[in-house]
Amino acid sequence: MNLSELTLDREGLAAAIACEDAAFDAALREKAYRVKVDTVGPEVYLRGLIEISNNCVKNCLYCGIRRDIRCPRYELSEEEVLAAAHVAAQRRFGSVVIQGGERTDAAFIRKITRLLKAIKAIDTGDDPPLGVTLSLGEQPREVYEEWFDAGAHRYLLRIESSNPDLYRKIHPSDHSYDRRLRALYDLKEIGYQTGTGAMIGMPFQTAEDMADDLLFYKSFDAPMIGMGPYNPHPETPLTLTGAPFPSAERRFALGLKMIALLRLLVPDINIAAATALEVLDPRGREKGILSGANVIMPNITPEEQMVKYNLYDRKTLMRDSAITERIVVGYGRWGDSKHFRKKNFY
Ligand code: SAH
Ligand code: SF4
Repeated sequence: MNLSELTLDREGLAAAIACEDAAFDAALREKAYRVKVDTVGPEVYLRGLIEISNNCVKNCLYCGIRRDIRCPRYELSEEEVLAAAHVAAQRRFGSVVIQGGERTDAAFIRKITRLLKAIKAIDTGDDPPLGVTLSLGEQPREVYEEWFDAGAHRYLLRIESSNPDLYRKIHPSDHSYDRRLRALYDLKEIGYQTGTGAMIGMPFQTAEDMADDLLFYKSFDAPMIGMGPYNPHPETPLTLTGAPFPSAERRFALGLKMIALLRLLVPDINIAAATALEVLDPRGREKGILSGANVIMPNITPEEQMVKYNLYDRKTLMRDSAITERIVVGYGRWGDSKHFRKKNFY
């Protein structure tokens, strides 16, 4: 396939995704990188990732911290979360992301509310207070409201797959695609910059499914997207079915290609270079940036706990040390999506 033949409709996107020509992929990534620099600039924004807990009430069939997996569980104390946020402030990351397994108990909800208020009060010198993104799964609308009022302004909730049939195949029967979608619309209506995304290269997933994921991001009008390759975890039901899925090399290539295609489809959004890329290639996130992504989430979870946040196999320990020397970093800023700012007239 030739880059000049690429069309950004369902058929064209699916053909580009299915294409296994390395020269096409390289040309596509190069073009997407140029579009990124021209549209949102060369800067990469950092979000210090704090993995607050691997306790989860859900049982997603692909996930290594699902409820039914026997693994060491942990929950960071408020002091530990705040210490990590202070590190983010000192290093002028601009923002943090608090991510974790889904919990709906009152104690956890109140803890997040207190943390949000405390993080917003951290002294950042001349920079704005830290921006906070939450990624804590599906919650009742009132909880999303409470957290928004306490200072969270972005929320990341992946649709995981925009194809309801595939969604059903990778989740237990008590998980609902419609509820997921409702949660995404609740977040949006409350005023969050609502990010979503899907896994790439899953069992049962077709090129058309992936094309539909890209079109879903566009139609949902998401200001930010965090998508990444599926990485099998050996003890999950999805892996144990033995259903085939693309090789590591192919999933990595697909991960970069999806970033590049999305940058062409919606040029002014924030696109994260996911941690899952780094598991497949030691410079995975940097290659994500060179394919059109503009957000990186350096992990600032205390190391002893980070290793237990085992969503998938071979999750390596990651620090931002080397990578920030090789990219242009937008230090001390929230790095909100240009797309969202344009829409909201500020
Ligand atoms: N519990 C929250 C946030 C933590 S999970 C939630 O589910 O939204 C964060 C993301 O990890 C999920 O959205 C999922 O896309 C990803 N993930 C889980 N298992 C994975 C796997 N085996 N390979 C790749 N990504 C995975
Ligand atoms: Fe829980 Fe999120 Fe894993 Fe699902 S993907 S089991 S909600 S941590």
